[in-house]
Amino acid sequence: MSTNGEAPEHHLRLGPTSTTLEDFTDSYILFRETTRRYREAYEQLEAQFETLNIKLEETNQELRKSLEEKDRVSNYLNNILESMTGGVIVVDLGGAVTLFNQAAEQILGRSQSEALGRPYEEVMGAAPGRQDSALYTLDTGTSLINRVKEMPRPDGRPLPLGFSTSVVRDESGKVLGALEVFNDLTEVKRLEAEVQRVRTLAALGEMAATVAHEIRNPLGGIATFAALLGRGMEADDPRRRLVNKITEGVGRLNRIVSSLLTYTRPLRLNTHEVNLVELVEESVAFFEIDLERSRGNVKVTRDYVPGPLACRVDTEQFQQVILNLLQNATQAMPEGGTLSVAVAPDPGHVMLCIGDTGIGMSPEVQAKLFTPFFTTKEDGTGLGLVTCRKIVEAHGGRIRVESAPGTGTRFYVYLPQ
Ligand code: ADP
Ligand code: MG
Repeated sequence: MSTNGEAPEHHLRLGPTSTTLEDFTDSYILFRETTRRYREAYEQLEAQFETLNIKLEETNQELRKSLEEKDRVSNYLNNILESMTGGVIVVDLGGAVTLFNQAAEQILGRSQSEALGRPYEEVMGAAPGRQDSALYTLDTGTSLINRVKEMPRPDGRPLPLGFSTSVVRDESGKVLGALEVFNDLTEVKRLEAEVQRVRTLAALGEMAATVAHEIRNPLGGIATFAALLGRGMEADDPRRRLVNKITEGVGRLNRIVSSLLTYTRPLRLNTHEVNLVELVEESVAFFEIDLERSRGNVKVTRDYVPGPLACRVDTEQFQQVILNLLQNATQAMPEGGTLSVAVAPDPGHVMLCIGDTGIGMSPEVQAKLFTPFFTTKEDGTGLGLVTCRKIVEAHGGRIRVESAPGTGTRFYVYLPQ
């Protein structure tokens, strides 16, 4: 509004009307202009908002994809870790377990939930000065490659482990912790011991064979002289008893030497195609006659497959196997019982089973059964079963035992058909 005081009266009258209109027009134009700008700005904003939205959506999608990819990779790595047969344990900088795979659970007999978050020493057992462990690597930054150590098992027996360790870093090279990969070496150690045992036995066998040869001659001499001594004595001479003792002792020594020689002599098989049922029955019938004369309290039962069962064996040697098993079975039943003999086909094999209802065997005895000279009998040689095994294995077969103390024993012999 004009406040010009010099303006004439008529002007003054007319003035306000024209001024108001002009002002109004101006304002209107200004208003329209402003509105237009606002609208433009709004539209621009809207457009920007739209592009931002699209960008956001794209970023989101990328993020989702990269998350999925990360998930996939980490799942993949997890699957690998869980499928590994080697145990894997990872510790953080403080020495607490952050990863413990399935194989580690199995080898150490401890569940993942028992291990995660716990100090390494608690899970893997402490080593003096943190040696031989992921902790050593954590302290020194040095990897340990293909080492061997022993850990106590929960039951106290040692658990041999082969292991390697290394430092774990992130992509920038910062140390995050240490990793240890380990394997159970029990089976390897067992095989090593078995190889050692076989070597010792072979050396022992060679020596025994030489000694047995050397013993045989003087034994023959003693037997002859004892017989000469006895010849001049009256039947009721008390010294005769002593001479008989010498003869008995010599006989026993001779039997030991003979079985030792049988055991150590290299086996040469002279095989024929036979009907196993017939071969077994022949030995059993022969044994049974002897049994009825010496022991009235052992019953023999037979369970043979009907019809012939062909296989190739050295009849003489295989009869010795049958006889040894029948003898052991009878000796295991001092109070009497049932001796069972079975012959049956087994996929790809023929099977002979000789069972008794006797004293049975403890797991400790079963573990030593096939060790030369192992015997629980006062007059045993401990060479029966090792000889059986040697003969059966020379035939390409296998022998195994099932036994329970107080219940009885079954020996199974498998021969290739
Ligand atoms: P030996 O008969 O001279 O003792 P073996 O090698 O034939 O030698 O047997 C070794 C040991 O295995 C026996 O002393 C006995 O302790 C055990 N054994 C073998 N067969 C049986 C069986 N059927 N029942 C129980 N124990 C057995
Ligand atoms: Mg025996």
